[in-house]
Amino acid sequence: MTEPNAGPVTRQGGTVWLTGLPSAGKTTIALSLAERLRADGHRVQVLDGDELRAALSADLGFSKEDRDTNVRRTGYVAGLLAGHGVTVLVPVIAPYAASRAAVREQHAERGVPYLEVHVATPVKVCAARDVKGLYAKQAAGLLHGLTGVDDLYEEPVAPDLRIHTQDETVEDSVRRLHTLLTAGGLS
Ligand code: ADP
Repeated sequence: MTEPNAGPVTRQGGTVWLTGLPSAGKTTIALSLAERLRADGHRVQVLDGDELRAALSADLGFSKEDRDTNVRRTGYVAGLLAGHGVTVLVPVIAPYAASRAAVREQHAERGVPYLEVHVATPVKVCAARDVKGLYAKQAAGLLHGLTGVDDLYEEPVAPDLRIHTQDETVEDSVRRLHTLLTAGGLS
């Protein structure tokens, strides 16, 4: 017998891309939002940047072309999953506007919802957080091509949401993003 209050059999999937500098807060927000959405019964996939690079893009480095290819591949996988009712959260730097536009376009062609979120933490705050020690390595001359320091980051001009993590708690940031998903029919 069908439960009268049972939810819909299929949910609307979609991709939420969190773009921003290293240590901006992309992963923290994505993981926390994922927990909240799962608790509400959504199927959620977080596409972790490091994991995907190891599994899918081990052939790629950090040249402009390789970064672009990495983002397009990631976007392709996200689009496939999102097309099957999964909420896909992508905390991946995605430094170039053209690559991000291509991913948005891929989703539009498939009729899959796509939201771009700029985690707009200033580079000074990111460098002070330095979660993976990348800023320190760059400063010590042990690493070159760090996005936002000595490699290009093109800020999104018109993201669906901009999050200023330096001014709010993780819970605040997640709440604002969740509100965006609700407005987009994804929560
Ligand atoms: P990224 O994935 O962008 O490289 P991380 O999420 O790994 O960055 O790290 C961000 C750091 O900033 C974490 O230590 C997190 O606790 C901290 N932080 C402080 N405030 C916020 C906020 N409002 N949103 C997200 N992260 C925050």
